[in-house]
Amino acid sequence: MRQKFNLPLQPSQVKEGVSCRLCVNECKIPEGERGLCGLRENFKGCLRGADSQKGSLEFYFDSLPTNCVASWVCPGCSEAGFPEFSYRLGPEYGYKNLAVFYNGCSFNCLFCQNYHFRETLTSLPQKFISPQQLVEVIDDKTSCICYFGRDPACQLPHSILTSKLALKNKKGRILRICWETNGFLSKNLLKEMVEISLVSGGCIKFDLKAYTESLHIALTGVSNRQIMENFKEVVRYIDKRRPPFY
Ligand code: SF4
Ligand code: SF4
Ligand code: SF4
Repeated sequence: MRQKFNLPLQPSQVKEGVSCRLCVNECKIPEGERGLCGLRENFKGCLRGADSQKGSLEFYFDSLPTNCVASWVCPGCSEAGFPEFSYRLGPEYGYKNLAVFYNGCSFNCLFCQNYHFRETLTSLPQKFISPQQLVEVIDDKTSCICYFGRDPACQLPHSILTSKLALKNKKGRILRICWETNGFLSKNLLKEMVEISLVSGGCIKFDLKAYTESLHIALTGVSNRQIMENFKEVVRYIDKRRPPFY
């Protein structure tokens, strides 16, 4: 299936390849080839493609309340977080969510619900959006950002940078930052991501595909060991939630 889209079948691990450590695959990419996600390649010994300044993504607005998977607990759609993190005690009618849909994924799921993303990645992405460009679309009625997609993990530095810029520019307005991910994240960036979400009143949503490692490998092509470690780490932050959350 991936061959049809000109994507690698496995993360490359050649000794002399260029390293990318943005997700647990930790590809070592040979000259002229791409990492498993298809977002970056080894071009003459350097990584080329998506990076912290160049996001391969689509974005759009969703009116609140949305169908976000955390809608039953989040300040945008429930009574949680009012008044510090929500304009309304209940669904935040009249406001909207900036949905940022990142291209590329670190898994190779048997039943991928987004398989069509591979059509945009038959070659290295050519069109990019910078953090500054994304921040410029945020207006007074945007009260949250959701980073999701295929999976946002392979472009985490871009979403972290966008979040920092957006929070710096929010001028007293509410702006929650949320991520929805398969959890296959670099441990180094996990803390920064969770802390941004925590201080802004946002949520981290983990899409755990399976509990048993062998089943996870069968469904996605990769082990879930680091995902479970990451999940444990994120769960530790639950105690740091203070009222107005409950
Ligand atoms: S982000 Fe992409 S290139 Fe980097 S390690 Fe993960 S799959 Fe490989
Ligand atoms: S992005 Fe976050 S705050 Fe906004 S609707 Fe989704 S889960 Fe709720
Ligand atoms: S994690 Fe989601 S987008 Fe990625 S391969 Fe699996 S189903 Fe598809």
